[in-house]
Amino acid sequence: MLVINNLKWKLANFLQQRNGNDDLSRITFLVSVILYLVSIVLDILSLESIGSILYVIGFAGIIYSLFRIFSGNVPARQRENDKYLHFISLQKKRFAMRKEYRIFACKGCEQHIRVPKKKGKVEVTCPVCGRKAIHRT
Ligand SMILES: [Zn+2]
Repeated sequence: MLVINNLKWKLANFLQQRNGNDDLSRITFLVSVILYLVSIVLDILSLESIGSILYVIGFAGIIYSLFRIFSGNVPARQRENDKYLHFISLQKKRFAMRKEYRIFACKGCEQHIRVPKKKGKVEVTCPVCGRKAIHRT
């Protein structure tokens, strides 16, 4: 019993210092498993060349998600996860307003600029760098 308790304690201690599962690891793992399953189907359909590409990507993705879960560098993994969550919330916002607005990237500074749709050709001035550009809305 003492040996098992000691092992449990060591395992708990090990896991406590790890990043654990987060949104980015979960989605990476899910997409990778789907790619892996698709690669099996493609192999059955004798499309081995596409199948082996998906297999490699899926396999690498599974390794990457496991690396993230067991990574001891928790602050770095949390920064990656925060970036991912920020990106997802941005895409959700864009999707929600896709009918009312068009979004342009400024050619000067890459800043994204939101312009109402159906206003014809408009001159857009970047609020960050002041560069002007004509866009069809
Ligand atoms: Zn700009």
